[in-house]
Amino acid sequence: MLPGAPVDATVPSGGRPALGRLAAFDLRQFGTVTDDLGIDLGAPVGPAAVTDLLAACLTDGHGVPPSRPELWSAPVGDRTAAMVAIAALEGDGTFAVVLRCPAPECGEDLEIEVTWDEVSAVAQRASDSFDVDAAGARYQVRRPTGADQERWLAAAVASRAPSGRDLLAELVQDRPPGRAFSDDELASIEAALDDHDPLVCFGLDVVCPACGAASRHEPSLLAMAAAVLRTHQRRLLRDVDALARAYGWSEAAILAIPAWRRAAYRDLIWAGA
Ligand SMILES: [Zn+2]
Repeated sequence: MLPGAPVDATVPSGGRPALGRLAAFDLRQFGTVTDDLGIDLGAPVGPAAVTDLLAACLTDGHGVPPSRPELWSAPVGDRTAAMVAIAALEGDGTFAVVLRCPAPECGEDLEIEVTWDEVSAVAQRASDSFDVDAAGARYQVRRPTGADQERWLAAAVASRAPSGRDLLAELVQDRPPGRAFSDDELASIEAALDDHDPLVCFGLDVVCPACGAASRHEPSLLAMAAAVLRTHQRRLLRDVDALARAYGWSEAAILAIPAWRRAAYRDLIWAGA
């Protein structure tokens, strides 16, 4: 028995230039198909989980998801923006983030809100590739991609972690073979990346209400989005468990029921318990 029509939870991506290379895709609300329950959102969320989530929740105008190579080759900043945009569909686009005051002898928890609008505004400052003037020479630099991130992680696991110097040099597209960069050149490249790939080091200036200290924080946007999606995933699993026990419906059938009706069934189950 199918207790409800499938939920149409696709949101057109029009007006989301913050998604950069992924801006052409529509967003589907997370948690409306059974495959969503199989995405590993355990902390820390790695690039493979981000790719799985984007493959599940992005579709083009014909309902076709982006290919895996397309997702892996998208800049980390665009992938992060897309994941935050999907998480923002779960509520009003506001995320609660807990930071800690770094002042000695304070350590107060700083509870702040980050909104999708703020993240989107910062993300729109990104540019795919850009020129950097470094010590009199001009280089074209690109943003790191999901594939770069995966390759660097694999190297780190194999105890061959690339140095920060190696990572930056890899992003210079017209580097002469064998050319080593000076510290000043690398600093120029890094500063340009901060400007042109702003979501990767999304920063917040916070004043501690307890001690008045001002400090700069760089919360992980991926962790922030994953926390929302993980909570939603756990809530769905509880719904599936309760409704399957009570009515014998399948996972797919239960996820096809709108959230408000699932909540109503849950209330009936508890009322009759
Ligand atoms: Zn403080």
